[in-house]
Amino acid sequence: MRALLLKGPQILDLENIAPPEPGQGEVIVDVEVTGLGGSEVAALQSPGLRPLPNIMGHGLCGLASTGHRVAVFPLSGCEVCLYCNQGQPQLCNDWNLIGVQKPGGFAEQVSVPESALVHMPATLSWEQASFIEPFANAVNAWKRAQPKSTDSVLVIGAGSLGLGLTAMARDQGCKSIFVSDLSSKRLEAALSLGAREVALSFSREFDIVFDTVGTELARTQCINQTKKNGKSVFLGFASQSLNIDFTRMIREQITFIGSFVFSRQQFGKAMELAHDCSSEWVKNLSFNEVAAELKAYADGTLMPIKSALRPRKIV
Ligand SMILES: [Zn+2]
Repeated sequence: MRALLLKGPQILDLENIAPPEPGQGEVIVDVEVTGLGGSEVAALQSPGLRPLPNIMGHGLCGLASTGHRVAVFPLSGCEVCLYCNQGQPQLCNDWNLIGVQKPGGFAEQVSVPESALVHMPATLSWEQASFIEPFANAVNAWKRAQPKSTDSVLVIGAGSLGLGLTAMARDQGCKSIFVSDLSSKRLEAALSLGAREVALSFSREFDIVFDTVGTELARTQCINQTKKNGKSVFLGFASQSLNIDFTRMIREQITFIGSFVFSRQQFGKAMELAHDCSSEWVKNLSFNEVAAELKAYADGTLMPIKSALRPRKIV
């Protein structure tokens, strides 16, 4: 089968490799769509904790050998520790993500635990399905921040995470959601999902600010635009560190919140929200187009709403 192998910084090779052999309790999924996201962009710069060679792609959907159209819940833990029992396997010392520690969806096939299969309704297109995984991150971040319906909320970045937060805000009855991004197409998508106002940037402060980008600039903006007693929520991974002046954060009693992946239940909620997305927002890529797309993202020269690998697409 064809697969993209991450072998080191800036090395993503398309190769023909043996198809996966299902282990005990596993099934084969023929991959129909795998989303490209910030973690793949970052991993191509620096593979981090991924064992190499690595088949990336943790937002994947396809046809399971059970005959179902499925989205794959990519996260697992030890299933016995405190965090696993609380439905937060991402905090388990043995957390695993398909597409990070285990082979993922940048391939024609992947072997996954049958328990990871989430059946997809026929009403959801494969393109819409590429929003499930990022939207699940947004659902978790929303829950972490616990906005009140009267809170003013700013979302920095209208990629799939930011759009997920926008969709979640509407779903939860929050009417004051503002979204900033450099791309007019992304901002139009945010408006269609219920954003009250969109702009390149806003100069005022908000009760809750979500940074979906993770660059030093975006994180600084996030903190600077949070009101007194407000919350700054961080989801983006673009940069590892940040130099900040803590005095304002202390004096103005700002809460910093980190948010990482999602629970099974939140994944299901995201599948519901993904129905609000347009299939036309997705740029479908063949295997040959993925490496250049990830590099262009990293350079900041490309801002599609969502890019996704479609293994059956031939270019
Ligand atoms: Zn555990």
